Amino acid sequence: MAHPKRYKEKRWIHLRLAVLKRDKFQCQECKRKGETTDADTVHHCDPDALDLFYDMGNLISLCNACHNSMHDRITDELTERGKKWLLRLRRGQIPRIKIL
Ligand SMILES: [Zn+2]
Repeated sequence: MAHPKRYKEKRWIHLRLAVLKRDKFQCQECKRKGETTDADTVHHCDPDALDLFYDMGNLISLCNACHNSMHDRITDELTERGKKWLLRLRRGQIPRIKIL
């Protein structure tokens, strides 16, 4: 979490909810494996792209376990699994649509 302040802003709270709604409150990594798990986290596929902080195309809903599997907490880098989502972001495979 590079910018702790931002996570308390209204803008973020609203966007986070929009992402969860877009993803039907389900973990998108579990979904790839054919599993249905409630999401409790919204993940930045590119955590270092400050210009994409509020971009829905950079955001996916994950469960806690999957979110932990995206980040190497020792090196603070994305894991191999996390890098796959980075690739999907760069390919524009994450929908930017807003569901209100
Ligand atoms: Zn999951």
